[in-house]
Amino acid sequence: MTHTLPDLPYDYNALEPYYDEATVRLHHDMHHKAYVDGLNNAEGKLAEAIGKGDFSLIKHIERELAFHGSGHILHTMFWENMKPGGGGPATGKVAELINRDFGSFDSFKKLFTASAVAVEGSGWAVLAYNPVFEKLVVLQVEKHQDLTQWGVVPLLIVDVWEHAYYLKYQNKRAAWVEAWWNLVNWDDVNQRLPLK
Ligand code: MN
Repeated sequence: MTHTLPDLPYDYNALEPYYDEATVRLHHDMHHKAYVDGLNNAEGKLAEAIGKGDFSLIKHIERELAFHGSGHILHTMFWENMKPGGGGPATGKVAELINRDFGSFDSFKKLFTASAVAVEGSGWAVLAYNPVFEKLVVLQVEKHQDLTQWGVVPLLIVDVWEHAYYLKYQNKRAAWVEAWWNLVNWDDVNQRLPLK
């Protein structure tokens, strides 16, 4: 089964003025698509290796699986995490957990923003639920797959690769993150919580 690029859950220009149509179009149609293609390619190479019993390139193939697979998963989630007319403080169960684990929404927002702005190189800030520790955690992800805790369920993510914001925000990553807060779809974030 091959992976396919999912359609955006809204129009390309629906996130204006915070997220400009030109960037959304490039980001979805070119960048996200490249991760889907890369994942399919890596899975094809893996099937070939298994078929031939030749694992001489396994290190390379599994790196590609981690990078492109994670890139596809995170980008799919990134689009769903946003909506036109989103933003505002957290709602529902996630709001309760944020208050419990970070003290207040304001403290969480500052933590998440600082984490996103400070990612070294290309990566993401992630709010995740860790079912082993039974609490929320904010993590900085480098590339798409580095610096995680095993088993966490990502709930809310922001892309801070330059391709995510450079057309409109240039080197002002903090301005991109500040604008992105106006797009958060808290219903989607709540739906991802692995709790009853
Ligand atoms: Mn991206």
